[in-house]
Amino acid sequence: MKLFRSELLQGLNHRLFEIDADSLQIEDAVFHSPSLKCAVTSTDQPDGYKITLELEVPFRLTCDRCLEMFEWDRSLKIELRLTDNELLAEPNESDIIFFPDSLLEINLAPVIHDYIALAIPVKKLCSESCQGLCPGCGINKNRGSCSCHLERSSSLFEELSKLDLDEAE
Ligand SMILES: [Zn+2]
Ligand SMILES: [Zn+2]
Repeated sequence: MKLFRSELLQGLNHRLFEIDADSLQIEDAVFHSPSLKCAVTSTDQPDGYKITLELEVPFRLTCDRCLEMFEWDRSLKIELRLTDNELLAEPNESDIIFFPDSLLEINLAPVIHDYIALAIPVKKLCSESCQGLCPGCGINKNRGSCSCHLERSSSLFEELSKLDLDEAE
């Protein structure tokens, strides 16, 4: 996603950009929409511009418990600073980007890529109360029930009663 200096000079006020989801190439991230919406606002600063990105990320995730896909829309607000002061722009600091006067445009795709990659949750659950899959028969317990639970607990009970007997001997 490129911003032109000419646009920044005029100032952007919630200008809507569409980002091609495939172009982001984020490992482990799948989206349920072909494009991501990003509203861009810019304000002048003595050494450059302050940029606010309001990004809608249409994640499609796979539930860790039931292995079903689910949609997870996430809003990200990213605040960046473009500066012509080389000393301020640290290479490791992705929020502060060096934007010398000689550049006519700036590509924000790498920064957006990093923020989205960080927003992927470690624990992916379709719902907090997801019942997951039955370890016995593999049925999705959110959709139906099975008799494995009863069988498993009765066999567990048998195991325990055997232990009791062993101890008694
Ligand atoms: Zn689930
Ligand atoms: Zn089962």
